[in-house]
Amino acid sequence: MARYTGPVCRLCRREHAKLFLKGDRCFSDKCGYDRRQYPPGQHGQGRKKRPSDYGQQLREKQKVKRMYGLLEKQFRGYYYKASRMKGVTGENLLQLLERRLDNVALRMGFSASHAEARQLVRHGHFLVNGKRVDIPSYLVREGDVVTVREKSRKIQKIVDSLANVDRVPRPAWIDLDKEKFTAKVTALPTRSDISSDIDEQLIVELYSK
Ligand code: SF4
Repeated sequence: MARYTGPVCRLCRREHAKLFLKGDRCFSDKCGYDRRQYPPGQHGQGRKKRPSDYGQQLREKQKVKRMYGLLEKQFRGYYYKASRMKGVTGENLLQLLERRLDNVALRMGFSASHAEARQLVRHGHFLVNGKRVDIPSYLVREGDVVTVREKSRKIQKIVDSLANVDRVPRPAWIDLDKEKFTAKVTALPTRSDISSDIDEQLIVELYSK
């Protein structure tokens, strides 16, 4: 699966928001967005234009896509899947994105960033209901138990992440047992569990043109 490998702080600057793509650095005074709150590139500090409706929709889509570390084709696939589900398309979309195993590993506190979570999943460090799962896009269900494999519990990245787990509030739908390196999905995430900085309706408007 292809992925973006360029500098990630410029993505935050482009989206004018902290996307927390670099783990510990995002919480330090080295954060690129905190230091330079203008878009990257030669014209980043140029004249500010009021974005068109399309521009706003595009930026919102790009922001969420980058937040979850996805590329266009995969993100669009989630949109189509969400639009075929019962309920509100925008909320379904966010719920699908939240249920990805790499995202769940991040929310549970087993990694510091999406990229790190994705790598840990790919390398097979997690069990879902006792079975090894190495697919970052695997969708967890209510009642699933995610565990760090016994022999992976000494991995420094996981140990460090768990040590900092209380730095950000843990979502209500996840019940973490830090000592046992285990977390349970107690419910599927609802809209109120997901960052309110996202205006998912703009994404729906963009794709339904
Ligand atoms: Fe974004 Fe983190 Fe870089 Fe700050 S340090 S600009 S939050 S990726």
